[in-house]
Amino acid sequence: MSTVGETLKLLHPLVQKYLRKERMPHMACSGCGIGQVTHSVLLAIDELGLTPQNTVWVQGVGCSSRITYSTWVGDNVDAHHGRIFAVATGLKMARPDMNFILFTGDGDCGAIGGNHFIHACRRNLDVTAILFNNGIYGMTGGQVAPTSPVGAVTTTTPYGNIEDPFDMCQMAVAAGAAYVARWRSTDFKPLVASIKKGIQTKGLAFIEVLLQCPTNFGRYVLKTSSPQEVVKYIKEHSISQKDAGKLSREELAGKYLLGEFVYRPERKGIVERYQEFLKAHQKE
Ligand code: SF4
Repeated sequence: MSTVGETLKLLHPLVQKYLRKERMPHMACSGCGIGQVTHSVLLAIDELGLTPQNTVWVQGVGCSSRITYSTWVGDNVDAHHGRIFAVATGLKMARPDMNFILFTGDGDCGAIGGNHFIHACRRNLDVTAILFNNGIYGMTGGQVAPTSPVGAVTTTTPYGNIEDPFDMCQMAVAAGAAYVARWRSTDFKPLVASIKKGIQTKGLAFIEVLLQCPTNFGRYVLKTSSPQEVVKYIKEHSISQKDAGKLSREELAGKYLLGEFVYRPERKGIVERYQEFLKAHQKE
């Protein structure tokens, strides 16, 4: 058995640089896609030269939020379940000079926090939000989520889910986010590039990542505990927008489109408008 010291030596340099070593190993199940996404985010902020001094992590409640929860070496803020955008709005308005990275899950963002999410997009709040979409409630044991596919057997839909899932990206586009994209946890290069673009975008950047949850989605929906099988399922149920153009509407049913959906950095956001407002009314 290796000692903690030996384990720490094996940690990726990015983890050593940005995460609290004493909090390692993290809490995600083995084979989970959360580590891949976190790695992509750390690489993106490293390449952009962001530091713990100018970057604050904001996380909601759920599996999505457990890696940076108390492990990011800079400041991090835990919001109540679903309140991540409300908390981030206050933080960003008070400190427009800081970068805010938000980690949220499909339950946190699409269910209990759906209303906050829509209005943050409408206000075009200048933050980067990463949505970890595993298609199920992971941390609480496999309940149906607003992103679960039709027919999914979960602990709360033992005879199969009868509801259509939300398309969170289309919702973000319709509500007004400045940058919206979707990737899979295995799309390492485009995901890192997209996160960098999102951080550099003025306004709300919303990046959804489809990731494998072998523990609950695998177990209940696919009847497997194999991370590879869940990755395979995600690959079979997602397609680039270019390739999607070759398929009929029927062939596209149940598939997630991948890529960038909107980029409108010219759209003025609430932070900029608020600064202008303050300037204009300071004397009154
Ligand atoms: S329950 Fe699923 S999403 Fe949560 S840490 Fe485990 S594998 Fe990952």
